[in-house]
Amino acid sequence: MFDRLFLCWSTETLMDSTTATAELGWTVYPVSGTSDNSWEEVSGYDENMNTIRTYQVCNVFDSNQNNWVRTKYIRRRGAQRIHVEMKFSVRDCSSIPNVPGSCKETFNLYYYESDSDTANRNSPPWMENPWIKVDTIAADESFSQVDLGGRVMKINTEVRSFGPVSKNGFYLAFQDYGGCMSLIAVRVFYRKCPRIITNGALFQETLSGAESTSLVAARGVCIPNAEEVDVPIKLYCNGDGEWMVPIGRCMCKAGNEAVENGTVCRACPSGFFKSTQGDQLCLQCPINSRTTSEGAINCVCRNGYYRTDSDPLQMPCTTVPSAPQAVISSVNETSVMLEWMSPRDSGGREDVVYNIICKSCGGGRGGCTRCGDNVQFVPRQLGLTESRVYISDLLAHTQYTFEVQAVNGVSDQSPYSPQYASVNITTNQAAPSTVSIMHQVSRSVDSITLSWSQPDQPNGVILDYELQYYEKDLSEHNASTIRSQTNTVVIRGLKPGSIYVFQVRARTVAGFGRYSGKLYFQTMTEEEYNTSIQEKLPLIIGSAAAGLVFLIALVVIIIVCNRRRGFDRHDSEYTDKLQHYTSGHMTPGMKIYIDPFTYEDPNEAVREFAKEIDISCVKIEQVIGAGEFGEVCSGNLKLPGKREMFVAIKTLKSGYTEKQRRDFLSEASIMGQFDHPNVIHLEGVVTKSSPVMIITEFMENGSLDTFLRQNDGQFTVIQLVGMLRGIASGMKYLADMNYVHRDLAARNILVNSNLVCKVSDFGLSRFLEDDTSDPTYTSALGGKIPIRWTAPEAIQYRKFTSASDVWSYGIVMWEVMSYGERPYWDMTNQDVINAIEQDYRLPPPMDCPSALHQLMLDCWQKDRNNRPKFSQIVNNLDKMIRNPNTLKAMTPLSSGVHLPLLDRSIPDFSTFSSVDEWLDAIKMGQYKDNFANSDFSTFDVVSQMTMEDILRVGVTLAGHQKKILNSIQTMRAQMNQIQSVEV
Ligand code: AMP
Repeated sequence: MFDRLFLCWSTETLMDSTTATAELGWTVYPVSGTSDNSWEEVSGYDENMNTIRTYQVCNVFDSNQNNWVRTKYIRRRGAQRIHVEMKFSVRDCSSIPNVPGSCKETFNLYYYESDSDTANRNSPPWMENPWIKVDTIAADESFSQVDLGGRVMKINTEVRSFGPVSKNGFYLAFQDYGGCMSLIAVRVFYRKCPRIITNGALFQETLSGAESTSLVAARGVCIPNAEEVDVPIKLYCNGDGEWMVPIGRCMCKAGNEAVENGTVCRACPSGFFKSTQGDQLCLQCPINSRTTSEGAINCVCRNGYYRTDSDPLQMPCTTVPSAPQAVISSVNETSVMLEWMSPRDSGGREDVVYNIICKSCGGGRGGCTRCGDNVQFVPRQLGLTESRVYISDLLAHTQYTFEVQAVNGVSDQSPYSPQYASVNITTNQAAPSTVSIMHQVSRSVDSITLSWSQPDQPNGVILDYELQYYEKDLSEHNASTIRSQTNTVVIRGLKPGSIYVFQVRARTVAGFGRYSGKLYFQTMTEEEYNTSIQEKLPLIIGSAAAGLVFLIALVVIIIVCNRRRGFDRHDSEYTDKLQHYTSGHMTPGMKIYIDPFTYEDPNEAVREFAKEIDISCVKIEQVIGAGEFGEVCSGNLKLPGKREMFVAIKTLKSGYTEKQRRDFLSEASIMGQFDHPNVIHLEGVVTKSSPVMIITEFMENGSLDTFLRQNDGQFTVIQLVGMLRGIASGMKYLADMNYVHRDLAARNILVNSNLVCKVSDFGLSRFLEDDTSDPTYTSALGGKIPIRWTAPEAIQYRKFTSASDVWSYGIVMWEVMSYGERPYWDMTNQDVINAIEQDYRLPPPMDCPSALHQLMLDCWQKDRNNRPKFSQIVNNLDKMIRNPNTLKAMTPLSSGVHLPLLDRSIPDFSTFSSVDEWLDAIKMGQYKDNFANSDFSTFDVVSQMTMEDILRVGVTLAGHQKKILNSIQTMRAQMNQIQSVEV
């Protein structure tokens, strides 16, 4: 089973007759002289002619011989198995003339164990048992002649062993029973496995086991700086004192190598390393690396050189690449091909790739800004392996700078940004891109109304659109064309029940773009038309949103229809609404808002304006608020090929009706039409799984009203005006798109982490539903209205326009400047309506620059035509931001027309019974303890407080200091009034 480790076995002698210098003095039986001749000690020579002491016996002629010779007491010394080596010679019986048959050529070997040397002449008795027989020993060779000049020695050597022995020592005895022999030498020994170092471990000397087949296990100890591999290292010592082949092994640890035949693990010298445990030798440090001490397990890179996690340790350390060389560009309209040569120095690596940084420059504001997401890079923008890239969808007539960065596997580790080569280009004139989405808004027997979205890349100002159409069954050569300055057109004079092919293209000064793909729409048949009128009649009458004007229009339509039964039909009822949108003063090519409820199927509007997102891309994290239709959550959106982004997720709670689903999603259909930095951005909708969701960009600071209340007094006037400017800019965009918000209020503005305010809340439902749970919205004929924010004409006869949004904007200004105060405080809605009717207006909030209050008053002009447009408001605010001096004046203006309401923001101190109550009323209740602890606990002392006192009591926020100081000044004025009255 085991192989032997031959190099190492040894014995330990317990007794050796040849080393005796004097008589051996063993005990003989029978005693010499009492019998014929027993064993007899004589001097002789061994084969090397050394003098030795031997025992001889030769009584071959006498029968019944029983001659014993017993050694002296031999100490066991821990051995369990004893070996006896006997050298002897035996005379060949047949060579002795006349020898009787009793002549023997063998003798017996016995042993007797004893804890001490107690034997004497008679004890132990000379017989087997108590003696234990080891064996009968026969000669291999016997001699048959005697040479008178000396014996011809035929020496036999036999070894026998016995065990287990356990007492302190033993005797040996040799029994002759009628032979002629000479016991020349007896050596008694035991076997042991010696101390060795093998396989990286040290094994101490180990004695063999008791049986010749025994295996004694020995645990090895790894030599210094070596460690066991896998299993504990073990050796077995066999009965012959031989080590068997070891199990397991120790190997030098990392940073150490085996030397001196594997008996020593030596630390790697400096400049060398060994990264793992094992037999291998230390390696020299690769280029650009060094060791910091002996016994290194790796070599650290020199400054400016690095290794990636996957670089092998024996690989040289590498560095970042130099810049790409010789970038050349070729511009074609709004695309550009960039090509370059690889860097002069790759940094010693083979994984150099390129990133393209795109900046558009000179966009009016000077400086360069990063290009938006819409620019296309082929094959990709980052990690280019080839040294060329094709960049398209750039803006026409725009200057761009492209930086081509060279990066490699270690660029991330360098503290410096990658080296790059840059190139400047200016794009050329380009026609607009193709219109991708066109849909049918309505149709009649002889007309179809179509609408489409602006091309993704207008490449300039769109002058108009050209629509080409022809009957499907006719050839394209018969096509007619219509021009339209908006993205909607009514095509009249069509045949009933016929399919037409439509294509549209946009035009800029650079010419026409390509036609869109062909779309097929069919006019109504006579029967369809009649059925549709009958079906829609109750729906229109029942609609809460339909006003009287609309009903009249309908009656007119019906009358006209009835009169002109036949060919000259009006369009369906939607056309009127649409004509309202398409008429008016629109910038050519300007996108207009399309009310999702004008669609025959509102789901169609969702499909058109909101991107469907697969639910697997959405990860909801936590609930952040309650919306009208369900919870609002925050989460992550990871669209394929785009970076993961933080989003807000509005959900539709389960158990909804089809109408609720439609109303919920209408917000997405509206939001999806907008694209402006101050209007909340729709990412998409989830409608194909449950719950239905609307996903928008995430606004870290939540709604503006709450945000301001939480940060009362914390912003500079310029910061507040900056927020107002953003809201006005978003509203200008919406007004330009013909969208009327109807519910502009600070609660419907969201604020992101950069304090950017965005208009949100495009849900229509709260105006329509009969739910009176929210007191902000008061039921009025035809819908609910947020009275405090709404212009009088909208309250009185539902005249909602961008001018009524301007009124609401004035209220938002007031909310912002007062840090979220409730407009008209605790007045009832009816009081508010009456006050406005009598030309009372809100006074300037505390610290509000008069220029801003004047702008509010302008927004609150009774005649809506006198109110500023959002574009004027934006310009006005921009001027204030550029000229902060205009924001210094604080004296409230009070014109004869706009009577300010009594300012309730600083209440009359005399209505409070304690300073604590007064602090609560001015919303500074958190400082009650500070005032009390500094003994400012009566109105008399408080009214004398200075700015230093306010600081000393521990009011550290500048806004709060001002508020308290202002309130104290008012208190003083009120006290003076009281005193003068008393006087
Ligand atoms: P809404 O249904 O739009 O009134 O939303 C309810 C509440 O959810 C709001 O008052 C906000 O606090 C929060 N919320 C809505 N949309 C967002 C968003 N995009 N980012 C952060 N919070 C939002």
